[in-house]
Amino acid sequence: MAKIDQINFKGKTALIRADLNVPLKDGSVRDDSRIMASLPSIQHVLKNGGAVVLMSHLGRPQKEKTEDGRIQVGKYSLKQIVPALEKALGQEVKFAGDVGGELSKKMAGDLKSGEVLLIENTRFEEGESSGSEDLANRLAQLGDIFINDAFGTAHRAHASNTQVARYFPRAKKAFGFLMEKELTEAEKIIHSPEKPFTVVLGGAKVSDKILLIEKLIERADHLLIGGGMAYTFILANGGRIGKSIAEPDKVPYVKTILKKARDKGTEVHLPLDTLTADEFSAEAEARLFKSSEIPDDQMGLDIGPKTIQSFSEIIRQSRTLFWNGPMGVFEMPAFKNGTLEIARSISAATTVGAYSLIGGGDSVAAVNKFGLGKNMSYLSTGGGAMLTLLEGSPLPAVEAMEEGV
Ligand code: AMP
Repeated sequence: MAKIDQINFKGKTALIRADLNVPLKDGSVRDDSRIMASLPSIQHVLKNGGAVVLMSHLGRPQKEKTEDGRIQVGKYSLKQIVPALEKALGQEVKFAGDVGGELSKKMAGDLKSGEVLLIENTRFEEGESSGSEDLANRLAQLGDIFINDAFGTAHRAHASNTQVARYFPRAKKAFGFLMEKELTEAEKIIHSPEKPFTVVLGGAKVSDKILLIEKLIERADHLLIGGGMAYTFILANGGRIGKSIAEPDKVPYVKTILKKARDKGTEVHLPLDTLTADEFSAEAEARLFKSSEIPDDQMGLDIGPKTIQSFSEIIRQSRTLFWNGPMGVFEMPAFKNGTLEIARSISAATTVGAYSLIGGGDSVAAVNKFGLGKNMSYLSTGGGAMLTLLEGSPLPAVEAMEEGV
């Protein structure tokens, strides 16, 4: 595979698979971070004399069809992002309302150097998610060079990000700048992270992160567990967790993990104290209990002050930090403190020289909400893809870029 900055784009059309899956409200873009993150690759092609055909998915239109089986075009059309894209690029963006059909083929063929064309939501085609060869072949005809800059979908073998790459020889395909950056940052955690290496895991469930936990236990010095998933660990240690969210069927698995951690010399730290409520509600009264002695009528919704202190001390002494998943129900003001304080501790450790990678939608959202994003070493734009990489599983879209003559 080539490098984007080694390719000659003069007089050529680059087909760029970007991640333009932005949140929308009433037909306009609510948060343009993903558009902004895609700009460097688009601008690089334009600056070097090329034209750009952009493709992306938006939402899950196949899962939300109308009762008579039609796509909700108005709700999911990428046409809605054209004004935001034009504003970000400072130039006109043409739009083709099909996905590799006659219209996009014609409009792509007519593009001149310096022009940009966006085609319709790739997920309007059923063949996108199934990785259809036919769709990939039609998309591949829209450009001379293929640039994959969609890290957020790299763990999915879809037509527009994986199969399409197979239609380009290695000299005519490259990762975009965002994709390159994400892979480079992940390497810092995967290969010989500076020690002590601390992994902070939270979020709702253990079951979503089984492979990740197994892999990280082999490399980390400390594993700090908070959020809903902590209660399955506390249950495995014989604690009382009241009505807290837990997966009792995962207790045997958690026991093997704890044993594996002991064998490897990885220290697993569980919450010592827990803020609870009698119901899952922002209005409920918050109470504090030992994490292993939660009364039957209470549920744990955040880590308590002792836990914050002990987790923060370990974070302070770490040289490499990876964080995925909030420490509590940070969406509710009464239960956001644990997540906020851990974000502050990671931010402080980074300021004095530690490397910190924040991966996963909710932890990135939390860090940004607290205004601490700029203090971290790197915020991943692709939660699922980043977790898949750290689990040690191959990313199909990355592998497809290495294939071919
Ligand atoms: P995940 O997508 O697995 O990272 O989970 C994120 C979600 O977990 C957030 O929406 C949190 O509100 C939720 N969460 C964190 N801690 C708890 C808890 N103790 N009980 C219930 N939900 C939680």
